[in-house]
Amino acid sequence: MIRIDSVTKRYPDGTVAVDRLSLEIPDRSITVLVGPSGCGKTTTLRMINRMIEPTEGTILIDGKDVMKQPVNTLRRSMGYVIQNAGLFQHRTIIDNIATVPRLLGWSKDKARERARELMGRVGLDGALAKRYPYQLSGGQQQRVGVARALAADPPVLLMDEPFSAVDPVVRKGLQDELLRIQEELGKTIVFVTHDIDEAVKIGTMVAVMRTGGKLAQFAPPAELLSA
Ligand code: ADP
Ligand code: ADP
Repeated sequence: MIRIDSVTKRYPDGTVAVDRLSLEIPDRSITVLVGPSGCGKTTTLRMINRMIEPTEGTILIDGKDVMKQPVNTLRRSMGYVIQNAGLFQHRTIIDNIATVPRLLGWSKDKARERARELMGRVGLDGALAKRYPYQLSGGQQQRVGVARALAADPPVLLMDEPFSAVDPVVRKGLQDELLRIQEELGKTIVFVTHDIDEAVKIGTMVAVMRTGGKLAQFAPPAELLSA
């Protein structure tokens, strides 16, 4: 379980991005952080993998303070997916996905074999393996982003508006795919979006944040009060 305990983030310019946030993110579920632009969602996600340090409060993963773990160990336990997938433009699809296993010391063949398996898992045609990212559609690129994040089989996936840049039909397909992947692989997923419909569709638990970085509600979708 990821436990966010009374966390505040104040940036050096004085902006309070997150204000005494407490959340218990259950294992093997999708917890969605939803709210308007600027309400502190990305800041929260980045504090979980320590790209940013909290000003106050603690974040515990399975009881361990993220600030007291070696950062490499921590990052290895988390895949990260962002809006435009953030692929390496000069690497082929297969090698984008194989990057993390390679960094972990797998042989090139073994890493590519794993990458091929993951392409299947996220619904990508194997014929795309040798293409470069610019030769793929936005939806396909997001699938590559998800496959790459899954490559080292981390227990946790952090996803920051991963499907926002694709059209509504493709987006629905990606949401369905993510639900299927979550069910099959049992990952703990923290998913950021500004779209309440998306939150309700994919969330096991939904954390509604409001401007100023405060938590307004934290409930399963069926129990959310309409704002
Ligand atoms: P969201 O992901 O919900 O759009 P963010 O976490 O990106 O929100 O931002 C929360 C608030 O913190 C916003 O007011 C934003 O302008 C501010 N902010 C984000 N990053 C920085 C930074 N590096 N320095 C100062 N303010 C920041
Ligand atoms: P390099 O080691 O320089 O990447 P390789 O001869 O191993 O060269 O591969 C050349 C290109 O072919 C690579 O960029 C890679 O994307 C692609 N490739 C190699 N092996 C596979 C494979 N098993 N499946 C898909 N693409 C592959």
